[in-house]
Amino acid sequence: MERKPVVAGNWKMNFDHLEATYFVQKLAWTLRDANFDFKRCEVTLMPPFTSIRSVQVLIDADRLKLTYGAQAVSVTNQGAFTGDVSADMLARLGCKYVLVGHSERRKYHPEDDANIVDQVRAVLTAGMRPILCVGESFEERRQGIELEFAVGQVQDVIRDLSDKEAAHMLIAYEPVWAIGTGMVATPESAQQAASAIRSHLNEVYGETVSDRVRILYGGSVNASNATQLMQEGHDIDGFLVGGASLDADEFATIARLTS
Ligand code: PGA
Repeated sequence: MERKPVVAGNWKMNFDHLEATYFVQKLAWTLRDANFDFKRCEVTLMPPFTSIRSVQVLIDADRLKLTYGAQAVSVTNQGAFTGDVSADMLARLGCKYVLVGHSERRKYHPEDDANIVDQVRAVLTAGMRPILCVGESFEERRQGIELEFAVGQVQDVIRDLSDKEAAHMLIAYEPVWAIGTGMVATPESAQQAASAIRSHLNEVYGETVSDRVRILYGGSVNASNATQLMQEGHDIDGFLVGGASLDADEFATIARLTS
């Protein structure tokens, strides 16, 4: 089955609402000038909470073909949870995706497997799609257990999902040692991990689901390594891009190379 690739820009804690507006305009005209074909690749932006509204307004007003999502979500839907943002709130802002279990969230916030399962459930219930982030640290890679580790992280989260729910997910394989370090995984090892994850989905849900789920690679993706990762990664359906997504020209180039 043809899976439409997606390039997602994870802005992390960058770009206030004014900078976000400027960025989206610049990205939109850069892609337009390059005759970018949105039918061949989806381009999505994951701004910080405070910039989502500005991104939404601009995309709606100018009928841009970009989509957008959030970087995190609360597991509860309302109430006395100071500082949290619910899945319904994000869905009402038109978010299509929510990152779940990014390694920076796992590290700096109390997000364990149980909490990540609840986030996935909250995102799906609100009608959005979770992008589940998994990937080994340097230590697991040193021990040679990176595939088991990443697949295990997927397994822990998808256990209780129905076929339909699983088919709605995206998975981002992001080795922790590659995030923000400039040390990108080799195309071969990125493909190996994506393929191991897809095989696991196949074992649990069968081909209809495993063929549909888009698996992204993330970790120091840039305009110079995207082509090779895509060409050699038959199971890789696009990228989750951090640092290089903050430069509209480079991000547009990555999208072009992915399409
Ligand atoms: P990076 O970040 O592209 O800066 O390595 C990727 C991510 O954390 O999603």
